[in-house]
Amino acid sequence: MAVTQLKNCVELPLNNEDLSEIIDKAKDYALMHGMTMHSNNPFNRNFVRISRFTLLPTSFPEKEFLKAKNIQITLNNLIHKVAYDHDFLTSTLQSTIKADEFTRKLYNIYKTVHKEGYTQTNSVGLMRSDYLLNGDMKIKQVEFNTISSSFGGLAPITAKLHKYILTELGHSDKTINIPENKSINGLAKGLIEAWKLYKNKEAVILFIVEENTSNICDQRAFDYVIHEVNPQIKIIRRTFKEIIKQAQLRPNKELIVGKYLVAVVYYRTGYEAAAYTSEDVWSVRLLIEQSKALKCPSIQYQLAGTKKVQQVLAQPGVLRRFLNEDEATRVREVFTGLYSLDFDELGEQAIEMAIMEPKKFVMKPQREGGGNNIYGDEIRSKLEAIRNSRDRDAYILMEYIDAPLQDNYLLGPNDQEPQIQSLISELGIYGIIIGDQNHVSVNEQVGHVIRSKPFGEDEGGIIAGAGALDSPYLVK
Ligand code: ADP
Ligand code: MG
Repeated sequence: MAVTQLKNCVELPLNNEDLSEIIDKAKDYALMHGMTMHSNNPFNRNFVRISRFTLLPTSFPEKEFLKAKNIQITLNNLIHKVAYDHDFLTSTLQSTIKADEFTRKLYNIYKTVHKEGYTQTNSVGLMRSDYLLNGDMKIKQVEFNTISSSFGGLAPITAKLHKYILTELGHSDKTINIPENKSINGLAKGLIEAWKLYKNKEAVILFIVEENTSNICDQRAFDYVIHEVNPQIKIIRRTFKEIIKQAQLRPNKELIVGKYLVAVVYYRTGYEAAAYTSEDVWSVRLLIEQSKALKCPSIQYQLAGTKKVQQVLAQPGVLRRFLNEDEATRVREVFTGLYSLDFDELGEQAIEMAIMEPKKFVMKPQREGGGNNIYGDEIRSKLEAIRNSRDRDAYILMEYIDAPLQDNYLLGPNDQEPQIQSLISELGIYGIIIGDQNHVSVNEQVGHVIRSKPFGEDEGGIIAGAGALDSPYLVK
């Protein structure tokens, strides 16, 4: 598997003299321009380390890059419509919520606010649709993120770094193939437009954050872009623990956190079960959902971003419930095979298929944030273990996307003497959307990121240290 090689933007290997000089320059560029994170092992807010990145950009077929960009608005719209389709959301998640406690608890919040009637009818999405190239060099969607989509703050710096590196290597003529990337401006616009909708200049944007945020530069990038656009907009950061103590709802459903009235809530945590450390966290999540504040994402957006929804959307005919024929065709083209593992006939067929040829599939639980998927022979043993239990409804099965490899150098805090490595690259396209049941007021495609990981490592979390920030080098 994964034998295809894409041609690099420059010939490799670089000679040793060039290499050590250019690595110095690249690492210092990253340091100086905030492609950095706090150390997280142990966490220390007074130290930063460079984020892992690739020395060179990654060749990516221009046509496929543009295809991914052009489809983003349709995908935003699709997920928006799913989120506001009560019957679809309910029936789609029915089996999942029986088997998966985390999704069930999210769903229960949704059920409550839906029954009460949304106090804030608008939802805010800062989305990221992720793709791998398949063996035939066509993009296939890996997943669609509706919560805490990261690296929009660092991706524009990576593109500039790569232009600088190519120039320093004597290839300034090639920098034109690295597309401009303003993802952070676009994502920040999403929050600014949401803030404007609230129509109160005193009200703030609340970032809900982890206890220790190592990926701080990616998040603070929002603060500074928003400050430049409108210095009146105040941003506060709170953990769930702090919000539990400080949050209250006024009778008119205004959300108050400490001394602040909150216009927009932006979650940079809360996408995984581990963030909900007590029932109080669940209660405060409900309280926020019941408030007038705009939520990025709302509970229904978060549910629309589940892997179960992705799987059901890929079933024949389902896209047409939400999209016209032309849109549905274009979306279908980027979907790969997705199968339910539910306790029924189709589920049985999928299990048979996966047990026969496990290497052709990935098994995914309803989780976000990386490190949860099951691959290869482990699929077989897992399926054999849970075949006769409800647990299997908590997973979906996906065709394995056989991405091409590309050589590059990885630079990071732990990469002392970089050697050429074979990497797999995942393209992410950012989108913003704001709307309610009847009207979408903002829907844009706003930029991109590439994250690359060494071949053989199944999951490329950048914060965890395996993945690296990268950018596309467009080729015909
Ligand atoms: P998460 O929500 O944990 O990020 P993803 O669906 O993005 O879940 O999967 C995590 C990683 O697993 C991806 O970044 C990708 O590297 C790999 N992966 C996921 N789906 C596939 C697939 N169908 N084929 C090959 N690799 C995949
Ligand atoms: Mg992912």
